[in-house]
Amino acid sequence: MQTKAYAAQSPTTPLAPFAVDRREPGPRDVAIDILYCGVCHSDLHTARGEWPGILYPSVPGHEIVGRATAVGGDVSRIKVGDVVAVGCMVDSCRTCPSCGEGLEQYCESEPGFVATYNGPLRGGENTFGGYSAAIVVDEHFVLTVRHGAEHLAAVAPLLCAGITTWSPLRQWQTGPGKKVGVVGIGGLGHMGLKLAHALGAQVVAFTTSESKRADAMKLGADEVVVSKDADAMAAHTGSFDFILNTVAAPHNLDAFLALLKRDGTMTMVGAPSTPHPSPNVFNLILGRRRLAGSLIGGIAETQEMLDFCAEHGIVADIEMIAMQDIEAAYARMLKSDVKYRFVIDMATLKQAA
Ligand code: NAP
Ligand code: ZN
Ligand code: ZN
Repeated sequence: MQTKAYAAQSPTTPLAPFAVDRREPGPRDVAIDILYCGVCHSDLHTARGEWPGILYPSVPGHEIVGRATAVGGDVSRIKVGDVVAVGCMVDSCRTCPSCGEGLEQYCESEPGFVATYNGPLRGGENTFGGYSAAIVVDEHFVLTVRHGAEHLAAVAPLLCAGITTWSPLRQWQTGPGKKVGVVGIGGLGHMGLKLAHALGAQVVAFTTSESKRADAMKLGADEVVVSKDADAMAAHTGSFDFILNTVAAPHNLDAFLALLKRDGTMTMVGAPSTPHPSPNVFNLILGRRRLAGSLIGGIAETQEMLDFCAEHGIVADIEMIAMQDIEAAYARMLKSDVKYRFVIDMATLKQAA
């Protein structure tokens, strides 16, 4: 099935129209007409070849909301016409210990989970993501959307920014009585603020952008610290149970590690293309602090997060764009100038000549 898409042909060429060939739905597959796709900073890292092992042409996009247009004979959960979603994964082995625990993102079989884009399959071919008119995905990796129809564009970012912040917030048991920091108020960070607040934690936003102060309070922060202000940072020394670090660029981690309580944890989800300066080990030793990482989230917890958000009226704050404006969106993302997630209206791709 020939499907309209947008692809980067190399790290240095702008995204441009491209046709992908989607497979005919097999017995366990769901064919999806894509309505909206969020724009994650990982899309930009990938399109520009900032991470190792990027395959070209590259069709990014892993925050997908759409409508099921066909289902295979063995599909039981999804019906034609359902509003569905696809996040960062489209397959995994289903048999290893991590898959067995519902943590498919840590699939232990070679080559690991199959990413929605740039997910090399066993045969070596590439996967193409959500900057496209349609996609075909195994039912196991298709989520059900329970939000109202008017919210569907703003639901799309939950499929990566939402789950990537939800999973560590739950893993480290944030909630009432816990003091939680969120570093970097972009796509991930703004969802981190909303979710940590909804889980009942005391939330502090750390930003490099003074201009985001008022927004961060509205998004769920109880307090905002501009991280360049050393005195404001020092006022929080030794006080956090948990810090979620979403920053997409290398920076000084010690400034945040020093803010953790004894046994506190800072989890890194930001994935810059060059390493952070090594933190001072004494910040970890003195206080038995932990520096951790986390990768997206499993399918079961993604559905749990979507349902939690539907119940609590949580969606992303978005700016809708046309597919044709993706390069301008990337340029603004590089300036931390996104309020707070771009979402592509896929009608603009379908209608293009
Ligand atoms: P984003 O919307 O660009 O937000 C990143 C934020 O980081 C910016 O808004 C900015 O916040 C802050 N920032 C950027 N440059 C900075 C710098 N030089 N110094 C300090 N702060 C800086 O990106 P995103 O989509 O949220 O993604 C964030 C990162 O997470 C990316 O690296 C992405 O690839 C990664 N990611 C990881 C996973 C995972 O599974 N671990 C999943 C999705 C994304 P302020 O203006 O508030 O400072
Ligand atoms: Zn993402
Ligand atoms: Zn597995």
